[in-house]
Amino acid sequence: MIPDQAMETDILITNIQLPGRLGETPLVKDCSIAIKGEQIVRIGPADEFSSVSGKKIINGQNRLAMPGLINCHCHGAMTLFRGLADDLQLGDWLNDHIFPAEAAHATPEMVYWCTKLAAAEMILSGTTTVADGYFHEQEAARAFSDAGMRAVAAQGVIGFPAPGVVDPADNISAAGAFIDQQQADGPLVEPAVFAHSPYTCDPETLQAAKALAREKGVSLFIHLAESRSEPEMIIGMQGESPVRHLDALGILDPDTVCIHCVWVDDADLDILAASGAGVVVCPQSNLKLASGIAPLADMLARGISVGLGTDGAASNNSLDMFREMDLCAKVQKCRNLDPVAVPASRILEMATSGGAAVLGREADLGSLEPGKKADIILIDVDVPHLQPMHGVDLLVYGAGKAEVRTVLINGQLVMEERKLLRFDLAETMQRVRALAEVVYRSNHSGAS
Ligand SMILES: [Zn+2]
Repeated sequence: MIPDQAMETDILITNIQLPGRLGETPLVKDCSIAIKGEQIVRIGPADEFSSVSGKKIINGQNRLAMPGLINCHCHGAMTLFRGLADDLQLGDWLNDHIFPAEAAHATPEMVYWCTKLAAAEMILSGTTTVADGYFHEQEAARAFSDAGMRAVAAQGVIGFPAPGVVDPADNISAAGAFIDQQQADGPLVEPAVFAHSPYTCDPETLQAAKALAREKGVSLFIHLAESRSEPEMIIGMQGESPVRHLDALGILDPDTVCIHCVWVDDADLDILAASGAGVVVCPQSNLKLASGIAPLADMLARGISVGLGTDGAASNNSLDMFREMDLCAKVQKCRNLDPVAVPASRILEMATSGGAAVLGREADLGSLEPGKKADIILIDVDVPHLQPMHGVDLLVYGAGKAEVRTVLINGQLVMEERKLLRFDLAETMQRVRALAEVVYRSNHSGAS
């Protein structure tokens, strides 16, 4: 029994529905959530809140409260290249289109505004935390911070000249400087290192990137075993599979996050499981580039910590985690020819508490509990396609971004009834359109 003593809080969400326990009632009605500072301080039936007041009251009628979704892999700034080069092989897409476009257009200004557009898209579709990786990442961090969005921002490391790092010999020191600066900044953005892949970073660079991450106490993210050609390429260059290559270099540990892992065999999965490294699957991007379908059920069976990511808008082309969850559940059923391979409840977990675990944040993110950060989304369930609701699994198969009405991150309202409160969306879209105009003109200059 909660003691009945007066409690003043910053935000009190009333009349809200919460997910019920599996096998019991699907939704628990007439609940409240009290938020003080950055945290949830009380959550439960309304009759436990008779002595709780809030400086701001949010009426949650017809709304379901869920933990904010966690997008474990994105390149926010790549919204500029959304739709620029569709329907291509990964190698052609990267080498003939994306890398040249980034070399020409990925300026600090571009990273700031295009990441802000990504933040808008993600908040509007219920994502409250994103793991981002790009160049000029200090500008991405500033964009997430200005948008009020939580982020793990990882500075890119790659073995050739990159935006903001003209000489690859400087990429580790640039990442180190970014981490030092970011660790001194606000509470929303946590820095990290993003080594692009084993085929764009040589072994020395990979080891140096991991050594830096260890020295600074941050995570290392890396694209790994994404396309069918990657194992052939790495076996050709290094004599072993991409996973074994990283393992031999001493890079796999619980603070390393491996993205994709589509082309992995049983021995690779055993190595990943033993290392404690996290994995992020990005099914939409993998399907669009025809990279394949990650063996998610095999990963989960081994106890690997797995999160879900959209990847960047150039290869998806959406940053909507509801779309990602739906697709992830269904392609896994087809890959395994088994409809129970990875159930919807497991997918929802990957997009919330599982994602938090991959990012090392399970203690304070990923679920609605007292003491956790108040990263909360309010979903309108009073719509025909979400009625009746026999269980929250319906959110995976039936909900869309339009039903996300209100979003709180770190105890702050960042969207109320679909209006973004922290920045001017119209200005952001105008800035991105102006940048896209330059891309278009440079792609068509000299054409007859
Ligand atoms: Zn990626």
